[in-house]
Formats: sequence, structure tokens, C-alpha cells
Amino acid sequence: MAEFHEAIIIGGGPAGLTAGIYLMRAGIDTLLLEKVMPGGTPLNTWHIENYPGFPEGISGKDLMDRFTVHAKNTGLLIKEFSEVEGISRKDERFTIKTSEAIYESIGIVIATGTEPAKMGIPGEIEFLGRGISYCATCDGSFFRNLDVAVIGGGDAAIEEGLSLANIVKKVYVIHRRDALRAQKIIQDRAFRNSKMEFLWNKKPVEIGGKDQVEYIAVEDTKTKERTEVKVDGVFVYVGAKPNTSFLGDLVDRDEAGFVLTNEALSTRTNGLYIAGDVRKKTLRQISTAVGDGALAAVNLEKYILEKK
Ligand code: NAP
Repeated sequence: MAEFHEAIIIGGGPAGLTAGIYLMRAGIDTLLLEKVMPGGTPLNTWHIENYPGFPEGISGKDLMDRFTVHAKNTGLLIKEFSEVEGISRKDERFTIKTSEAIYESIGIVIATGTEPAKMGIPGEIEFLGRGISYCATCDGSFFRNLDVAVIGGGDAAIEEGLSLANIVKKVYVIHRRDALRAQKIIQDRAFRNSKMEFLWNKKPVEIGGKDQVEYIAVEDTKTKERTEVKVDGVFVYVGAKPNTSFLGDLVDRDEAGFVLTNEALSTRTNGLYIAGDVRKKTLRQISTAVGDGALAAVNLEKYILEKK
């Protein structure tokens, strides 16, 4: 027998938890299914300085612990370690299948966020956990007083590179162009940090070593010259890939896989709303995920009340 809830939220990051708070406060019986533990991508962020209300900044974990407590205080039911395998829709009801159970609902908010993109170069997979990491917050302390590289020129690479600089001996920032795309305030801080060295116009081509990472080979994008940079660790921040494989053809996607929505954050499937980084949008921040979560929830609430 399937377990029924009026609304089911998939994903427990900032967007999903916010949707849960809004739906519960609207009196909608709501379940949140989370693949691992609530918190989402910000759990991998050492220090957050651009979420309003925290002028001194706050760690990603502390902020998301607050979101989770707030959501649970509304009575939101959160099922952890519940990875959704598939969703189908029949007779205006959704059926949601996880490895453990089957659920039914009138409406859904998808807030499954993204996972780190891979560089796709030799050595990247082989050295995972042996010098390669996608999470400085999780693994940075293993590299105390050692040399590391961060790959990428976006917010994640530069912010996490700055955090790593507090622990390691040296941070090489390896970027494929000659300008960063990270926010200016963070760029300026990184340029002033004596532990950070920028290797411009360098494309990573290989990661090598014996048992652990010992070097990253890069190719100059202009001269094609190959050089090896001796490092003990490589932190990869080359963008984000949306988690949408379980959605089948219920939604439309852009060429990178992000889900297309209208202004109401609904999709071509009635009752299916999208919130947060998984959505095609121009700004992926906690603040915009929170806005999405609220909007998706309010629109789903209206939809559910019409259907009841
Ligand atoms: P991002 O903004 O997409 O940046 C990815 C970086 O990796 C870019 O500099 C890109 O180079 C580079 N890159 C992409 N593919 C590559 C490859 N195969 N080899 C080498 N370099 C490659 O990704 P992100 O930094 O992970 O951030 C994801 C989203 O989260 C963004 O919207 C970001 O603003 C947001 N975010 C926000 C904050 C914050 O506000 N505090 C913190 C973290 C993330 P090009 O520049 O040449 O394209």
C-alpha cells in the first residue's frame, strides 16, 4: 500500500526545506524525501557571507541546521536516506518510488539540486579519496601544511580555495581562462592572499601519482605546452550537474539538463513544481533557492486546494 501525502517534496536543501515550511504553515500534509541528510549543497560550504541576516557569515552546516530545525518545528515529516528512483502520474495522482517504499501525492516539489561536475580527465576517478575531492569542507583538513590545487574560476572554486588557504601551505588556482567568474569581492580577497597562486589559461589534462595524487598535469590553452604541478590534493569545482535522472519525460530540460519552468515554477506536468539549483535560472544562491521554495510551495498549495 502506498503512503499518501497531499504534497511530497523531493530534496532537502534550502529550496526543499523552505517549500516544506511554507506548505506546512498552509496546512498541507507534506512529506520531504531526502537522499541522504537534510542540508543540501551548502553543507559543502565552509563559510557563507551573502545570506542576509548573518553579517558575520555562518558555516554552511550551521545555516542548514537552522533551516532543518525550522522545518521540523512546523511538523514537516522528513524521511532521510530515501532516494527517489522514479515518478509516474495517473488519474491526477503522482506515484513516487524509492528503494524502500512507494508514496502517492496530489502534487510534488522537485528540489534535488545539483552534484559536482567532473573534469573527465585521466586520474580523476582513480584518485577519488586519494587526493581528489569535490568538497574542501569535508576533506580540507587532510591537507594541513600541504600543497593543493583548486580547479575552476567560479564562486565555489575561489571561496573554497580561500578556506583551504587557512589550512594548507599553498593553493594553486588552475583556471582555463585569464579571468575569474567568481563574485568580485571574493576575487579581490583571493588576489590579496599570499598563499594563493593563479595559473591562468591552463586546462587540466591528467592527474597522476603512485598511491596518492602527486601532480596535476596542465596544458596551456595558448601555447599547448604541458607542465606538471606538484600537489598533494586536487579540489575540483568545475560547475554543477542537475539531479534529474528520475524525472523521465515529465519535464522539459535545457541542453545541460536543468529543468525548464514557467514563472509559477510549474512544468508541463500539472502539479509538478521545481525549486532551487535544479531549475534553469540565472543565479544559483541560497537566497534564490529560498525564493524558489516559497514560490513553488504557494503555487502548489493553490493547486492542491483546487484538486481537493
Ligand atoms: P560555475 O560558476 O559554473 O563555475 C565553474 C568554473 O569551472 C568556471 O570557471 C569554468 O570555467 C570552469 N570549468 C568548467 N568546466 C571545466 C573543465 N572541464 N575544466 C576546467 N575548468 C572548467 O560553478 P560553481 O563555482 O560550482 O558554482 C555553481 C553555482 O553555484 C553558480 O551559479 C555559483 O554562482 C553558485 N555558487 C554561489 C556561491 C555563493 O554565492 N557564495 C558559492 C558557490 C556556488 P569558465 O569560467 O571558463 O566557464
